[in-house]
Amino acid sequence: MGTVPQVAWLIAAVCFILSLGGLSRHESARRGNFLGIVGMVLAIGAAFWQAIESEVSGGLSQGGLSVLAVALVVGGIVGGLLAVRVAMTGMPQLVAILHSFVGLAAVLVGISVFLHGHGGAENTDVIHDIEIFLGVFIGGLTFTGSVVAWGKLDGKINSRPLLIPGRHALNLAMLLVCVLLGAWFIQSSASSSDLIALIIMLLISFVFGAHLVMAIGGADMPVVVSMLNSYSGWAAAATGFMLSNDLLIITGALVGSSGAILSYIMCHAMNRSFLSVILGGFGTGTAVASAGVDRGDLVHTATTADEVAEALKNAKEVIVVPGYGMAVAQAQHPIREITELLQANGTRTRFAIHPVAGRLPGHMNVLLAEARLPYDLVFEMDEINEDFPDTDVVLVVGANDIVNPGALDDPTSPIYGMPVLEAWKAKEVVVFKRSMGSGYSGVDNPLFYNENTDMLFGDAKKSSDDILQALRR
Ligand code: NDP
Repeated sequence: MGTVPQVAWLIAAVCFILSLGGLSRHESARRGNFLGIVGMVLAIGAAFWQAIESEVSGGLSQGGLSVLAVALVVGGIVGGLLAVRVAMTGMPQLVAILHSFVGLAAVLVGISVFLHGHGGAENTDVIHDIEIFLGVFIGGLTFTGSVVAWGKLDGKINSRPLLIPGRHALNLAMLLVCVLLGAWFIQSSASSSDLIALIIMLLISFVFGAHLVMAIGGADMPVVVSMLNSYSGWAAAATGFMLSNDLLIITGALVGSSGAILSYIMCHAMNRSFLSVILGGFGTGTAVASAGVDRGDLVHTATTADEVAEALKNAKEVIVVPGYGMAVAQAQHPIREITELLQANGTRTRFAIHPVAGRLPGHMNVLLAEARLPYDLVFEMDEINEDFPDTDVVLVVGANDIVNPGALDDPTSPIYGMPVLEAWKAKEVVVFKRSMGSGYSGVDNPLFYNENTDMLFGDAKKSSDDILQALRR
């Protein structure tokens, strides 16, 4: 391989590492994104350079370069259209389906390398066999797992966990059979029986991936998204090993490990052990029953935008808790304008971000950054949770599960144990939502019936616009 692609890949790998570093903070996220783009352009350019070199030296099969060009143009157009068209609320589904492509690519590359070999492979047979087998296994389960996650996030598949009897034994049996098939694959010298082992394992990995995600309930989906992100990284790394491509190995390892760290952070935020999440079952039975629970004489109080504006005018301390509904309504812009008016009026206004708010890690941060809200007004849960008792008004904008007191004080609640934003401790809480319906985990929220809680019904953008007008009057 020529030196130019090697150097380009090395620079691209450094760009990706710096990009990840940049993306970890608001202030440097734009730079991180830019470095990621530069790295990707370099990587694609290097792949073309390598293909041209190969074709010139007769190494690449006839027309290989044109296939690469067509793939790039078609992929670029599809990706560009998707990026332009996707609504912020559709982002989690898009991310999930993109993970499935990485999984499928690993499967296809694995089978192709097995059938036709790869000129660049330098490893011994056993190591090479392990690379193929592992790559296809991880790719297979990432593919179907991501498709199921996409279905669940898009509402095409019920988000309730599928709990078939003996599911742990079934998972274990599937893993065991795959290990045995792996041993057969590595030891056997006949390529026909190798292919049979590979195909059987692939089918099992498809079922395994789908079953793993089907068993995970609604409220655990944040971990699933980051977990599949991690799997897709390992699948890419396996592809890199198969193709002897250092950049793919580095990038795959970066995605794999950062996804694993994110899964850990999400588990920590939800007070759940990683093992219990992937073994599934959270958000079952009682969760569903409690969604339709009869709340007896409990009543909620409805309020109006004018009343909320009045309360805000008199407040000294305000905290805004954004949730998924803010993304649906696209209410971040009027909320930012309300914040500016309040600040100008001498009211300290801050934002409290729960780690699993919305439908994607960092979902709320992205929305608030898009609305150009100053970063120093945005606080993580741990930084601000103790300040609620000293707060005059809390605006819960389209959030539900993340402010559910049942998570702390109701051991029968399916989300019991998950740390939440303790909004109810403030003097007054205003909840922006359209109905008394439950959030993603399907759990009823006692906060709505508290004496110090007022419900502001309607689309969160319309409600925020109305408050804005009332504040300006
Ligand atoms: P929730 O899903 O708990 O609640 C969102 C609320 O927004 C709903 O109760 C809904 O009520 C309201 N809403 C929807 N549309 C509008 C609108 N146009 N205007 C006003 N309100 C609206 O969201 P949270 O952010 O509180 O919690 C996130 C949940 O999602 C958690 O359970 C988390 O585990 C899960 N999750 C998170 C992921 C992540 O990575 N962050 C990924 C996958 C799942 P109504 O219909 O009455 O308006």
